[in-house]
Amino acid sequence: MDKIDILGVLVDHVTMEEAVGRVKGFLEEEKSHVIFTPNSEIIMAAYQDASFCHVLNSADMVIADGIGVVYASRILGAPLPERVAGFDLSSQLIKEAGEGAYSLYFFGGKPGVAEQAVEKLKVQYPHLRVAGCSDGYFDEEKEKKIIAEIKDAKPDILFVCLGAPKQEKWIATHREEVGARVLLGVGGSLDVWAGVTERAPESYQKAGLEWLYRLQKQPSRFFRMLALPKFGLTVLFKGKRVKKG
Ligand code: UDP
Repeated sequence: MDKIDILGVLVDHVTMEEAVGRVKGFLEEEKSHVIFTPNSEIIMAAYQDASFCHVLNSADMVIADGIGVVYASRILGAPLPERVAGFDLSSQLIKEAGEGAYSLYFFGGKPGVAEQAVEKLKVQYPHLRVAGCSDGYFDEEKEKKIIAEIKDAKPDILFVCLGAPKQEKWIATHREEVGARVLLGVGGSLDVWAGVTERAPESYQKAGLEWLYRLQKQPSRFFRMLALPKFGLTVLFKGKRVKKG
């Protein structure tokens, strides 16, 4: 089974290892490839917005960022092999790029955050090839400059961290123009690499409770997170179940 339909979003049936392998394949090809990393909240937004759903499905690979997406696939009778968090996939790609194999561009976050992230990553990977950085707060004029800068820098991998749905829409609009081989929409990852926010401890991640950790750290996410029970109920009652046999 190749892709699993979760409320209209087609999620790839891949393990982390397979996802990394696919990206390496993408990097061999002279064209743009897009990777989106939806969690339950993003899939719920796409369920309510057909054009956003279309944007998500225009990707070359869609991975299950949250454990809720994996649970949903089980409910629908087409279990995904595992969660492939966008942050983990991106960190793995950075590790692969550590010896300078691929050049990277970091786009998003508050001013200075991308530079801070690069500084920290360079301590771990001194040979990292960083093609450039831009913050994620821009008007039309600044956006043009950012696009021109990315084009000039010709990165192999472009990390776009503008939060959803802004990053997915931005990538879908500009994927050909910027010329990167792989573009990933990976939300708050820059903040984690920069040390501005912390990833949930592994015990939370293993227990499928990363959402709870984020809620504890940022109670303001409460209203956004109401999408989670809604997502569960929608999958139960409206999701397309895979017929056996
Ligand atoms: N962000 C940005 N530009 C914007 C809005 C948000 O660069 O116009 C950044 C924000 O600074 C943060 C990231 O997008 O670093 C992701 O934000 P959030 O945690 O809300 O997104 P999530 O990962 O939950 O989708």
